[in-house]
Amino acid sequence: MSCLKELGGENTTKWNDAEVIGDLNEPAMQALLDRNACALVGKTSKQKRGTWRIWSTSLREMLELKLTRHEARSRKDGDSMVFANAISNGELEFDKNGGLHWQLCARTRGKIQSITFAGFDIDDGEPLELVKKRLKALGKFSILYTTHSHGKRHPKTGEVVNKYRILFPLEAPFELSPECPDEHSFLCAFWRDWLIRFAQEELGLTIDESGCDVNRLFYTPRHKPKDVSWDLTIFTGPALSIGNIPEKPMKIVPRRGSRGKDFSKVTLPKRPRPILSDGFDLIDWRRDWGRQFKVREFFECIQWDFGQDDPIRREARILCPNDLAHSSTNDRQGCWIKDGTGGECFALHCHHNSCREAELGALELLAALELDAGLPDECETLSEFLCDPIFYDADIGGHPSPEHNRYVRWDPRQENEAITAGAVQ
Ligand SMILES: [Zn+2]
Repeated sequence: MSCLKELGGENTTKWNDAEVIGDLNEPAMQALLDRNACALVGKTSKQKRGTWRIWSTSLREMLELKLTRHEARSRKDGDSMVFANAISNGELEFDKNGGLHWQLCARTRGKIQSITFAGFDIDDGEPLELVKKRLKALGKFSILYTTHSHGKRHPKTGEVVNKYRILFPLEAPFELSPECPDEHSFLCAFWRDWLIRFAQEELGLTIDESGCDVNRLFYTPRHKPKDVSWDLTIFTGPALSIGNIPEKPMKIVPRRGSRGKDFSKVTLPKRPRPILSDGFDLIDWRRDWGRQFKVREFFECIQWDFGQDDPIRREARILCPNDLAHSSTNDRQGCWIKDGTGGECFALHCHHNSCREAELGALELLAALELDAGLPDECETLSEFLCDPIFYDADIGGHPSPEHNRYVRWDPRQENEAITAGAVQ
């Protein structure tokens, strides 16, 4: 850490594994550490819906227990946090020793009440030393840490990839409006745009829109056991304030998909076969695996909005993946899902006219998720996640899960090259 002197001078100290740039003993910093901080915490990114713990504590304790420790772990998945407060589902989880208990919640977008930190997800970013200089110059309280995959070599270019997260506790929580769906959508879209703008203008970083959801999950700091390139740095300063928020929704800004598409303008392609953008053939997949597919669990894990849920009949109502094309949006009862039963295939069916008229069946609706699903960090594509063993009933099939490669019909990169070559000719 050669730049530390230059960055922090004599004020550089340690807090557990974190290097602290600035003076935490200043009265203003001590006051900031004593302020409330809230987050939803889980043991895994695939935490079941409704089992996230609402952790309301001080910023000091949150840092002490979770954010000043960069742990060596062989697995990437593990302790996860969403920097927000959410509506509790009324259930409590008790600690083994009795005394303490936790309020539980789902971490779906529709349940998030307020955002407590601005978090940035940088997956192929500028060198760490450069970002540190910018954070120091910005002068706000922030936490920078490398992720488990930091320092890997890019499969194509061979260059080392910089992967890190930057967290800013907010001066005041950014309040959403889960009780009023239109306003909620507007505020979620405002938040996403604010994050993108702040990253560009103040940090000089381009971020992926898929990391800007209000229910975005962050793994706590960790690195591979032999990795020595990890970093965890805290910059002191006042908490970040996000400035003026428009008081009333001026217009509903549609949510964009993870590839930056404007979701409102997307008409689902009428392909002869529903094949995902990475070449994954859904028809063949359903033929082989549809009877074992636990569709409810799948929607749970992508943190989708649910309506009624009937665990005994293994069916549920959810927000339709094509909801924004409906004449009335935000209907969490309009789409019906049911797990595969061994004899029968899983169901995913929307009752809305627009979906019926467009003849969108289960596979077309699954394909629509490519634009909008919150995938866990370790999955690059929807189809990879779709093949995860946790979504298949091994008791029924006898086999754990689909072999992803068997269903990939073409390499999308070659396809793009072919299109480009065709256009040139
Ligand atoms: Zn629909």
